[in-house]
Amino acid sequence: MTAPAAREDARGPVVEFAGVSRTYPGGVTAVGGVDLTIRYGELVCVVGPSGSGKSTMLHLMGTLDRPSTGRIAIDGHEVADLSDRELSALRAQRIGFVFQQFHLAVGVPVLDTVADGLLYAGVPLRERRRRAARALSRVGLDHRLGHLPHQLSGGERQRAAVARAVIGEPALLLADEPTGNLDSVSGAAVLTLLRELHAFGTTVVVITHDRELAEAFDRRVEMRDGRIIADSAVPAASVSRAGGR
Ligand code: ADP
Ligand code: MG
Repeated sequence: MTAPAAREDARGPVVEFAGVSRTYPGGVTAVGGVDLTIRYGELVCVVGPSGSGKSTMLHLMGTLDRPSTGRIAIDGHEVADLSDRELSALRAQRIGFVFQQFHLAVGVPVLDTVADGLLYAGVPLRERRRRAARALSRVGLDHRLGHLPHQLSGGERQRAAVARAVIGEPALLLADEPTGNLDSVSGAAVLTLLRELHAFGTTVVVITHDRELAEAFDRRVEMRDGRIIADSAVPAASVSRAGGR
């Protein structure tokens, strides 16, 4: 399940969507006819108003959901070819998630919550804790290892959630409105952290409804009504052609 290093070195695609749609039971087409390629090492922002299909895109990229139609390959694996068990292994080893609600276990010290990010990687407890301490140090929380989530500020909680997401050194880090619950100073710190991770080689996809925040990204993928209406990495003509399917 580990991607060959050559694939990453060649800056091949880590996310490939071809004609992807997702229609929910009841008939809402949350994502319709999307073509999108994200390469290893990119930092990408997906921006659009509430209801435009951003979270659905993130669930599809993260293999938490399967498309209704179209083709998705993540980290070189065709999603349609993998069983649910194989997909969860892919997620555990290759994908990190950060959500708006930090999802830290209540009453569990942050060191252990972050160490649990390696639970499915077969790493022994001592080593998990050692690496968790290192990951927390990387996000500026070395002085908070024994703290419980409720003893942390929102910004610190989100930094702990980022540490948990990256402890397994995922190929792809997906963040859905990661600053949505934070004040502007803490939000800026979390974005700086995501940029640092990108600078060290992680592919990072940030989802936001905040246009101002999106402006800070070199590559912006704009969504409206389940379609990509603009992608700063793709000439406008090919976006509208793809969107018109
Ligand atoms: P965003 O993250 O941009 O706000 P979503 O991907 O969450 O957008 O939702 C896109 C559309 O799909 C919305 O109209 C939403 O109501 C609908 N939707 C999202 N999740 C579900 C679901 N599980 N079942 C039915 N409809 C859904
Ligand atoms: Mg959303």
